[in-house]
Amino acid sequence: MSPVASPETVAPVSPDLGYDLRRQRLREQYLAIPRDQPVRLAKRTSNLFRPRAAAEGPGLDVAAFDGVLSVDRERMTADVQGMTTYEQLVDATLAHGLMPLVVPQLRSITIGGAVTGLGIESASFRNGLPHESVLELELMSGDGRIVIARPRGEHSELFQGFPNSYGTLGYALRLKIELEPVRPYVRLRHLRFEHADACFEAVSEITAARSWRGERVDFLDGVAFAPRAHHLTVGTMVDEAPYTADYSDREIYYLSIPRLGEDYLTIHDYLWRWDTDWFWCSGAFGLKRPGVRRLWPKRWKRSDVYWKLIALARRLRIPERTDRIRGRPGREAVIQDVEIPLDRSAEFLEFYWREVGMAPVWICPLRLREGSAPWTLYEMDPDGTYVNFGFWGMVERRPGERDGDRNRLIERTVGELGGRKSLYSTSFYEREEFRALYGGEAYERLRSAYDPQARLLGLFEKCVEGS
Ligand SMILES: Cc1cc2nc3c(=O)[nH]c(=O)nc-3n(C[C@H](O)[C@H](O)[C@H](O)COP(=O)(O)OP(=O)(O)OC[C@H]3O[C@@H](n4cnc5c(N)ncnc54)[C@H](O)[C@@H]3O)c2cc1C
Repeated sequence: MSPVASPETVAPVSPDLGYDLRRQRLREQYLAIPRDQPVRLAKRTSNLFRPRAAAEGPGLDVAAFDGVLSVDRERMTADVQGMTTYEQLVDATLAHGLMPLVVPQLRSITIGGAVTGLGIESASFRNGLPHESVLELELMSGDGRIVIARPRGEHSELFQGFPNSYGTLGYALRLKIELEPVRPYVRLRHLRFEHADACFEAVSEITAARSWRGERVDFLDGVAFAPRAHHLTVGTMVDEAPYTADYSDREIYYLSIPRLGEDYLTIHDYLWRWDTDWFWCSGAFGLKRPGVRRLWPKRWKRSDVYWKLIALARRLRIPERTDRIRGRPGREAVIQDVEIPLDRSAEFLEFYWREVGMAPVWICPLRLREGSAPWTLYEMDPDGTYVNFGFWGMVERRPGERDGDRNRLIERTVGELGGRKSLYSTSFYEREEFRALYGGEAYERLRSAYDPQARLLGLFEKCVEGS
């Protein structure tokens, strides 16, 4: 009997190898991880906010699985490795005058992460979510098999259950995705609505007509700055622009929204407009102050840099320490993205301003793509329009409130309004409730088919218990 290889004796997954060899090496590495050790991805970047499992043991060396394998300009498709960041992907596709159907706002989000963890962006009102433009998914399942899952055929159940599985069924190594043509510039129109009802009526109109005041709309998102200040931004790809703005250094994109009626960006700068300031979260580092902004190098004005700083502050427990020094009652991190049916969205905002109150709030309408598969771990009404609300920050605890209470209240309210909550951040659901919300039975079937020995953490353990 040959001895079982240890992870240290398995050859590394060198980026210089061809894709097939790298895949084989990765599989050997996976099979060599002792059964009693947790498996984790050794990945360069992350956009996960909930605590990760303690980084013990050898990580699965997936870093070499980044980069675009090919772009087919004629068919408008790309073959992409799972750990490719959208920054790499956009660079490769824009060179052909194409882009992915949905490009999440943060440059370091990877295609595997966005498909298994549900990305969203301003094209989502017409193109749905990133997993809806995947044609083929090659993954290494929990039991160490390499399988190719497609919308139909042998592994179609896995294909439908992979979105929102957060790497608990297997790891995406290669994805074939659809692309769409771009034009060089985006004309932005910023629309202001005092009342939430009027704002969501406009969302309904734009989503149905895919136009606003007679002009085609390619992109739609918005920001609520306060209970009576809602802004929608409609974007139209155009061939010419009288000028282009630059929000990648001195100027701040979100501050331009209430100030300007119209604006122009290159398509590249449009796609990364939110990354430079991590929406508005760079404000926590003083980047709204012109002096600090001037001194902060342009190359560090990126969400992945802020993310590392936040992760360090959390490790050093800086928020708790400053609260203690200032005699504050303590704060709760409220970092969530929730999807609410359009006709309950005004109600959600009313609740939000009363009970949470952090400003601004990101607004992003979405609809599933026509004829798209039923996504078993994140079911949505195929005929409904939803609004994603993103809010990220700290709220002061009220007297008698425990840590997590405000997040629990949000979870309850989202459920009452018929909505859904993304799982990239903290969650507090009870096991049974979670099971009912996130495809329990279908998920269990998939786990016993693709990871019968439970080598990978389960979804509840990963997303709620954070173990
Ligand atoms: C503050 C904040 C704001 C956000 N805003 C947005 C937003 O505006 N738009 C948006 O689209 N998303 C947003 N996200 C969510 C983000 O898209 C998801 O968290 C996504 O999963 C992150 O992808 P990543 O590549 O960074 O993966 P990671 O953070 O590294 O991993 C996320 C999860 O996916 C798993 N995973 C990663 N790669 C693979 C793979 N190849 N195969 C299988 N599983 C894998 C990991 O195990 C992990 O469980 C936001 C997140 C945060 C924290």
